[in-house]
Amino acid sequence: ILTEADYQPVRLLSLLRKIQSQYQHIPMEAIGILADALHIPRTQIIGVVEFYSFLHLTPQGRYDILISDSITDHMLDKENLLGYLSSVLKVNVGEVRADGLVSLNNTSCTGMCDQGPAGLVNGLPLTRLDRPRIDEIAALIEQQQAVSDWPGYLFAVSDNIHKAGLLLNTPIEKGTAIKSAFNRGLPATLQELDRSGLRGRGGAGFNTATKWRFCAEETAAQHYVVCNADEGEPGTFKDRVLLNSHADQVFEGMTLAAAIIGAKQGFLYLRGEYLHLYDKLQAVLQQRRADGLLGDNILELGLDFDIEICLGAGAYICGEESALIESLEGKPGIPRNRPPYPVTSGYLNQPTVVNNVETFLAAAKIAIQGGDWFAGFGTEKSAGSKILSICGDCAQPGIYEYPFGISIEQILADCGASDVLGVQIGGPSGTFISNKEFKRQLAFEDLATGGSFIVFNNSRNVLEIVQNFTHFFAHESCGFCTPCRVGTSLLKKQLDKIVDGHGSSGDVVELESLCQLVKSHSHCGLGQTAANPILTTLQRYPDLYAKRLKTIRYEPGFDLDGALEIARRMAHRNDAGAHLSQVED
Ligand code: SF4
Repeated sequence: ILTEADYQPVRLLSLLRKIQSQYQHIPMEAIGILADALHIPRTQIIGVVEFYSFLHLTPQGRYDILISDSITDHMLDKENLLGYLSSVLKVNVGEVRADGLVSLNNTSCTGMCDQGPAGLVNGLPLTRLDRPRIDEIAALIEQQQAVSDWPGYLFAVSDNIHKAGLLLNTPIEKGTAIKSAFNRGLPATLQELDRSGLRGRGGAGFNTATKWRFCAEETAAQHYVVCNADEGEPGTFKDRVLLNSHADQVFEGMTLAAAIIGAKQGFLYLRGEYLHLYDKLQAVLQQRRADGLLGDNILELGLDFDIEICLGAGAYICGEESALIESLEGKPGIPRNRPPYPVTSGYLNQPTVVNNVETFLAAAKIAIQGGDWFAGFGTEKSAGSKILSICGDCAQPGIYEYPFGISIEQILADCGASDVLGVQIGGPSGTFISNKEFKRQLAFEDLATGGSFIVFNNSRNVLEIVQNFTHFFAHESCGFCTPCRVGTSLLKKQLDKIVDGHGSSGDVVELESLCQLVKSHSHCGLGQTAANPILTTLQRYPDLYAKRLKTIRYEPGFDLDGALEIARRMAHRNDAGAHLSQVED
């Protein structure tokens, strides 16, 4: 394994993943060997293992099952299915069975919200789970059948493309974007990209041509291109589909970026949950090398560039570009201080362009069709189209591509949603809109989204949705900065207290002020948006919160009288005056 990784510390994550898949954990002996061979302290390696949820210091079962905890899975009866799975496999959630055969746990969204309830077994996706499938899976495990021999339909992942637009309608022919760019000239191609108005499709919406230009202008020994395929926002799965069916076009976009910024090396950072795509993508890369579209002297144009795939290991925060770069360097994915931005100091502190899968896909097409073609769709501030991952309460969940400016009303009609209560746009970090706002538009200037579009009908409980999202953020906080690490945990507790019926009006005031504190003092986007589910629903549904409140001044969120027990024992008192009422009227 070390030879394969060329003894490079930046390959640490990939080394750890390989060890984990072989031994179901990272043994201390392996950590010692890695520390000696890579010349990095053991504690640093342990820190990396502890950071990523797919890596473990203690053995997991030979069949390691994770069930997605996404809100859409809950809407599909996930909790009961998990309980059933736990009973048929005779293993508690969060534990390894005594014989070491199987372990079971929850995990954050696996990117299968259009075909849930979903999960993973030894990293591979299980879709459309129901009781008959669970019985079958349990039998296969008890018979100790290798996962590679399990029936294919248990792992079937559909693209579910329901509406193709200007990007998905007509895939480009291999090599045409690179040829067009060189025929036109690279500076002129960058101008076309500028004219197109293309903005990053990951959610932040930074102008793509500006990013590439800044990076190209940096003088450095190396430049790098990174494709961010770590879509971890619950409800998002469009990059899974783009990489499954349009990988060539994504790689072509990356090659185009390399030509423009002067990079020789690119990385596709693929979220660990998409392990099932790894071999397929490697085969696409191999074919591109064989076709002269990667490697030395691409298409005899004097361009040298190649792409490596790096797998993540279950950390939502690695979708943040600087955290992703840290992870690529074999470290915990903790967001860096910015500035400097990756365009000046990214991978190995060299100028690096990081873009989303969809952005590279669009850039390749713009290189062929020209900037005016792309800018001719969408709105003035949001050119082109947006590919959406639609899931939740609708007849046809899946992929839909629309020109920017489309109304929410139209999208809901197309995906077969009725009796709609509201839509979560942009995932938990985005905005919850109510059914009074469906005339609003999908656009950076109105409702921006990285792709997640979750529909909720009137049978759903808004507060349970908010709880799910708030718990998600508390779980995914990387722990680096106090406002987010402690704040998201306090938000979770305070919200639970209110939703569970123990809150007073003062608790709502405290919840709001906590939201503002987490939002304004957190180091990165995760903390800055973690309070959005609470804030956007407090604004739209204050009555729902009010209905859960007690008509008391204050009730502590813990057992107040119980907490005084030690003090009573020390004071040798147990009279009525030494006890406090739990509820203050
Ligand atoms: Fe980590 Fe949260 Fe701080 Fe971001 S805001 S650095 S996720 S602790």
